[in-house]
Amino acid sequence: MNRVKNIALVAHDNRKRDLIEWVEWNYKVLLGHNLICTGTTGRKMEETLKRKITDEKAFLELKAITLLKSGPLGGDQQLGSLITEGKVDILIFFWDPMQPHPHDVDVKALLRIAVVYNIPIACNRSSADFIISSHLVEEGYEPVLKDYSAYLNREIE
Ligand code: PGA
Repeated sequence: MNRVKNIALVAHDNRKRDLIEWVEWNYKVLLGHNLICTGTTGRKMEETLKRKITDEKAFLELKAITLLKSGPLGGDQQLGSLITEGKVDILIFFWDPMQPHPHDVDVKALLRIAVVYNIPIACNRSSADFIISSHLVEEGYEPVLKDYSAYLNREIE
């Protein structure tokens, strides 16, 4: 991981307000990193950041937010794919624990692949606060990857 991180931001509809507030609190740190979002979350994040940034210089420095498809239309799977390619360093995913979703399997798959690739994951605001206030956010960091060679080289009859 480089000093500038690729930070994925995703929130289910009932958690988008939480994520907006979290971004309002942390936008100064977030501006120094690349943001990747599922479609609807990303539009909300763009609005939020543009509202918060009153300083013209900071506005010019605002990096483009990468918008993927909306979650239920494949955005979570796109994010999972980016994780396998090493293109996501941190996942902030405020998923809704109180409602079933049409793309529940995609949500599970995204969380699973984030664990496989040992990237930091925050699923609620306090975890996100701990991650964003870590000094590692502003430093290089190499997550230790589990050795899957025994699995990859297993005998298949
Ligand atoms: P959305 O998708 O940002 O397009 O609402 C989020 C999700 O449900 O995974």
